[in-house]
Amino acid sequence: MEELYIGSHVSFKRDEQLLGSVVEALSYGANTFMFYTGAPQNTSRASIDLELTSLAHKLMIENNIDKSKVVVHAPYIINLANDNEKYEFAIRFLKEEIARVELLGIELLVLHPGSHVGLGSEKGIENIIRALNTVIDSKTSVKICLETMAGKGSECGRTFEEISLILKGMKYPDKVGVCLDTCHIHDAGYTLQNVDDILTQFDDIIGLSKLWVLHMNDSKNELGSHKDRHENFGLGTIGFENLMNVIEHPKLKEVPKILETPYVSESFNSNEKIYPPYKFEIEMIKNKKMNHNLIEDIRNYYKKD
Ligand code: FE
Ligand code: FE
Ligand code: ZN
Repeated sequence: MEELYIGSHVSFKRDEQLLGSVVEALSYGANTFMFYTGAPQNTSRASIDLELTSLAHKLMIENNIDKSKVVVHAPYIINLANDNEKYEFAIRFLKEEIARVELLGIELLVLHPGSHVGLGSEKGIENIIRALNTVIDSKTSVKICLETMAGKGSECGRTFEEISLILKGMKYPDKVGVCLDTCHIHDAGYTLQNVDDILTQFDDIIGLSKLWVLHMNDSKNELGSHKDRHENFGLGTIGFENLMNVIEHPKLKEVPKILETPYVSESFNSNEKIYPPYKFEIEMIKNKKMNHNLIEDIRNYYKKD
């Protein structure tokens, strides 16, 4: 059977937790999903409810969601690259986050490597390596996926070489891999015109067996812009065909593919009501055909409620 692991970012609410996330993913026709265990921009976290978690696991089994393909994204404010006064906090938080992810029964944790904020990428990478080696021990069951970054500001991990340097410093190399974000690598300067080319580069520098998660986003900006602004699938500068070549690539079949494309506003100039695009993007991906009415379809569908 041909299998495609496709899903999107979904919410994780304090009172519904993983169960709510599964229900949301199913409403999009997804068979995998990604969530933050709280607000992505802060580190306030609820404790994990074991009853909701076991109900969520049951619902996943009933709906053929393979738990090993589900992803948690660590909050993006934890910065392991800069060993300032917040460094110890970041390390502690990541340790706790790993424990939460393990309680939830999830195996993949995406992490932004961090920003060196003036220290230089060499020192930044050194700090990241030290932090990860502090956090990960022989008992860690979660697999950390370092995300490829657009190179905004002083972000580390803007090239495959930088990611490879971090991986080479790992005391437990089997527990750390990569999340490739199509928008980020495009904005970092890697063209997706030829997917085989990108995968060859990735394989030579990092190793394809390390590619554990894909973030499938189009980009609002030009190649090499170092901007990091996601666009809806097929409507950006990467385009439908290039993104589909990633999704359909035989070497990437087993890798979960997660959409982090922007919500759609009700009208062109309004920011009041916004709708998730994922149901329609997933449908379009499964149909393997660009939907030129994507935005209108999303608005019409959610306006009814
Ligand atoms: Fe990310
Ligand atoms: Fe991403
Ligand atoms: Zn991004």
